[in-house]
Amino acid sequence: MEAKLRTYTVGEVCNGFVYNELEGKGLYGLSGKLTIQPEYQRNYIYADGKKDVAVVQSALHSYPLGIFYFNKTEGDRFEVLDGQQRITSLGRFVTGKLSIIDDNGIPQYFSSLSNELQQRILDTPLLVYECEGTENEIRKWFETVNIAGVPLNHQELLNAVYSGEFVTLAKQEFSNSQNANVQKWSHFISGAVNRQDYLACALEWVSKGHVKDYMSQHRRKADISEMKTYFNCVIDWIGSVFTETEAEMRGLEWGRLYETYHTTAYNPEEVQQLVTQLYGDPYVKNRKGVFEYILGGCNDKKLLDIRIFDEATKRKVYQKQTAEAALHDTSNCPLCAIGHEAGRKKMWKLSEMDADHVSAWSKGGATSIENCQMLCKTHNRAKGNR
Ligand SMILES: [Zn+2]
Repeated sequence: MEAKLRTYTVGEVCNGFVYNELEGKGLYGLSGKLTIQPEYQRNYIYADGKKDVAVVQSALHSYPLGIFYFNKTEGDRFEVLDGQQRITSLGRFVTGKLSIIDDNGIPQYFSSLSNELQQRILDTPLLVYECEGTENEIRKWFETVNIAGVPLNHQELLNAVYSGEFVTLAKQEFSNSQNANVQKWSHFISGAVNRQDYLACALEWVSKGHVKDYMSQHRRKADISEMKTYFNCVIDWIGSVFTETEAEMRGLEWGRLYETYHTTAYNPEEVQQLVTQLYGDPYVKNRKGVFEYILGGCNDKKLLDIRIFDEATKRKVYQKQTAEAALHDTSNCPLCAIGHEAGRKKMWKLSEMDADHVSAWSKGGATSIENCQMLCKTHNRAKGNR
């Protein structure tokens, strides 16, 4: 790969700047010769009134704007490899789509600046490496550079490395904040649409975790129907089992849960009752675990992280049990005491015992001192497994 350093001005790069408001994309610059957002690039994410304004302020104050990288495609045409966010911010300002707040707190558009300030911005130099190489070389290098400002995240890198028709279509569906389904999906998926978190999730689900293999196999296919269908199946399944949405549903491993449980039949009304009951249970510490706990038939209490007996309670119960056991010359573990082995007179130390719910928590037993008994570790483990 070859890279030549040269200088453009902001005026040159923003000449012919086109911004697509609907898709939130900077499209062209450099009199039409520069493609600002190639398909593998992430969406424009600087439009938050801070990062985009900071770029313009930097130009106004003659602060360096960093290095830009263009990739030479054919003839004298280029696409932006790195610098798309900065160029789009400058282009939006110069074309009157972005304002900054001046020292007096007044919003200023480009057209309202003095001629001198306008010229200062247009003359700001941009240091550009123009790179030429095979697609493979460029992608490899792109993976390595990983961008000043907001670094590419994992999925954005994968989109760059496996760019092609599949990624283009997949982004239209899953990285598009205009998609009317996003609102519904956001109940179950965490992260941001424009940072590719929904696409990452769809890929994770359909590939059962083998995202790279899946993207590589489908790279040249102009067809995302398998991924789309699978994704919708998972979303529909969640809605058919859990009729109400809870905040804690967001970001669960729904792909894995679907694979494990979608062939089991559930009664949505019973499920909803269980959710309500567990949400109201003060001993349930982990609400995120409620859904898998119910799907799995309410067996795996570890998922709920049930509140345990505190140390003071354990010590009190231990002392009471041990004093009584000494009177009757039996073990202080009630289960050892009724056994037939040599252990039935064994006196355990506090550190050798664990607290147990006499009446099981899962059957409504409380985590209170009246419902606490100390068992030797062996008996406690045996009881817990039943
Ligand atoms: Zn015991």
